[in-house]
Amino acid sequence: ERINIAIDGPAGAGKSTVARTVAAQLGYVYIDTGAMYRAVTLSARRAGIDPLDTAALAAHASGLTITLAPGKEGQLVYLNGEDVTAEIRSRDVNLHVSQVAASEKVRSLLVAKQQELAKDKGVVMDGRDIGSCVLPGAELKVFLTASVKERAQRRFIEAGSALGVTLEQLEKEIAERDRMDEQREFSPLKIAPDAILLDSTSMSINEVADAIVSLSRT
Ligand code: C5P
Repeated sequence: ERINIAIDGPAGAGKSTVARTVAAQLGYVYIDTGAMYRAVTLSARRAGIDPLDTAALAAHASGLTITLAPGKEGQLVYLNGEDVTAEIRSRDVNLHVSQVAASEKVRSLLVAKQQELAKDKGVVMDGRDIGSCVLPGAELKVFLTASVKERAQRRFIEAGSALGVTLEQLEKEIAERDRMDEQREFSPLKIAPDAILLDSTSMSINEVADAIVSLSRT
């Protein structure tokens, strides 16, 4: 029987790679909710909207069509039909996404969309608030962590030179994004009471994915 799996955790904990691997092993659909917040952020930045102008941001977000589609090397993200998969990983988006994601209206729009995508089960969804807010009924909830240093190193290996920052800068930016994600008013990074805590600092992606796949079968 198909279930829904929620994978939450801070920036750079390896959620997306793990979630994608788990989805592939189970034949499930992978949904990266961070990509949706990133797409809204990219669009707002292009339109010159101040992420702190909540009314303008809400109006802008409600007119957007964000679509996710499976690609050869992971999930593709479309903004009003345009492929923005690469652009949503830019440093500019990294620096503004927490502010955009703090908007109550943006969250309610995206949460409704995420719930719709998961209604038939067989979904592995990664984010910050999946187990606590988006899919409180998910049959398996995992909260994935790793030390800030480890997370910065992983991001650096993945995209360091493309981001144009040093490892030290990246470590600072990740710690800052954690702080902003934790402090905001709406749906902060919360650990659902029934979530299983997994510290991946000294585990490989495959070890983490295998652990989650076994949990999904119990
Ligand atoms: O997962 P990723 O790092 O791509 O997420 C980007 C940002 O989107 C996070 O730092 C967070 O501010 C926001 N986010 C969120 N809720 C989610 C997923 C992401 O607020 N479910």
